[in-house]
Amino acid sequence: TATLAERDPDVAGAVRQELSRQQHEIELIASENIVSRAVLEAQGSVLTNKYAEGYPGRRYYGGCEFVDIVEDLAIERAKQLFGCAYANVQPNSGSQANQAVLLALSKPGDTLLGMSLDAGGHLTHGAKPNLSGRWFNAVQYGLDLDTGLIDYDQVEALATEHKPAVIVAGGSAYSRRIDFARFRAIADKVGAYLWVDMAHFAGLVAGGQHPSPFPHAHVATSTTHKTLRGPRGGIVVTNDEVIAKKINSAIFPGLQGGPLMHVIAGKAVAFGEALTPEYKSYIKAVADNAKALAETLREGGVDIVSGGTDTHLMLVDLRPKNLTGKDSERALGRANITCNKNGVPNDPQKPTITSGVRLGTPAATSRGFGVQEFREVGRMIVEVLDGLKSANSEEGNATVEAAVKDRVIALTDRFPIYPNL
Ligand code: PLP
Repeated sequence: TATLAERDPDVAGAVRQELSRQQHEIELIASENIVSRAVLEAQGSVLTNKYAEGYPGRRYYGGCEFVDIVEDLAIERAKQLFGCAYANVQPNSGSQANQAVLLALSKPGDTLLGMSLDAGGHLTHGAKPNLSGRWFNAVQYGLDLDTGLIDYDQVEALATEHKPAVIVAGGSAYSRRIDFARFRAIADKVGAYLWVDMAHFAGLVAGGQHPSPFPHAHVATSTTHKTLRGPRGGIVVTNDEVIAKKINSAIFPGLQGGPLMHVIAGKAVAFGEALTPEYKSYIKAVADNAKALAETLREGGVDIVSGGTDTHLMLVDLRPKNLTGKDSERALGRANITCNKNGVPNDPQKPTITSGVRLGTPAATSRGFGVQEFREVGRMIVEVLDGLKSANSEEGNATVEAAVKDRVIALTDRFPIYPNL
């Protein structure tokens, strides 16, 4: 019966500090969001106690009648969100959803064609240190350096030369719409499966602000905690019955044991939220805010890779200000603006330093920021960057950073989150 604070003051203290950090900073990490109270409650529920290996109606454990209701709801809602005939909601993470695609549709040694990490792809798309790069013959495509867009001619040339079993489209730092039809035409030409990893833009697809990967993709994966605004986890969706069966076997028993039923409950709640008109307005605001932020930053003298954004994120090229991603991330952090450093195409700096930062609007839009607030955020970012530049030291400009921090706290106080936690 003891509460967390009574049982474990150390953990409880850190959780409170994290709550306070989230309340008083502007979260611009493009892969993060702020879930609803209802999602938190589902995730913190007694469903964490339940083993439920298998799928609804076909479990290897007794007592699954209520968790079956929850998983069926999550599946039905995911299918509705993406207009798909099949959904697997059990992947514990986006990475495990991606591994399931590789396990289902290829075998070790097969060729996987994906976007390289430095062009904005994800580790699981064939990066060297990842299983996808170690167990598969990973061939990687990049961007057209003049436009900052995917070099589709290069994708086609690499596919024709290397005959991949699987081609993956989608990434972690790519801000433009992807031409799924072109990818499918390339896949068909070489007899490959087209897998779309929509982890970043899935919420925009669900909310009607981004073209759907279907009918072009054979299969699509996503995380559930980014623009979709659910608990941390993954999903796989498809319209192909044979692929759906292979994916189910790949997730369980191929990769995972008992599914995280409390997380699946959180997914069901988040998917239900994403089907509402309020979510459609939210996702439109996410996209409008991203455009406003990108525009304000450009006016302030930085470049945006590809010149702008069609999604919730943008990659800021800091080279016009002669700043590194590492120093800028830290300076912004001291002003309570949270983001992550990120390489830009053809980055002259090491991956631990970089010449860019990646910014996204999903989290701050969830707390209610609109275009006006994001223009203010853009101006504050430029002030911190100019302060850092004028200080000419990685220590930054303490006066500017402190003044911006005060404005950030005033702004976040106007848009409170989790007031009753
Ligand atoms: N796919 C893409 C495109 C991502 O950006 C990410 C996460 O950043 C993932 C997959 C992996 O998700 P997770 O961190 O849940 O394993």
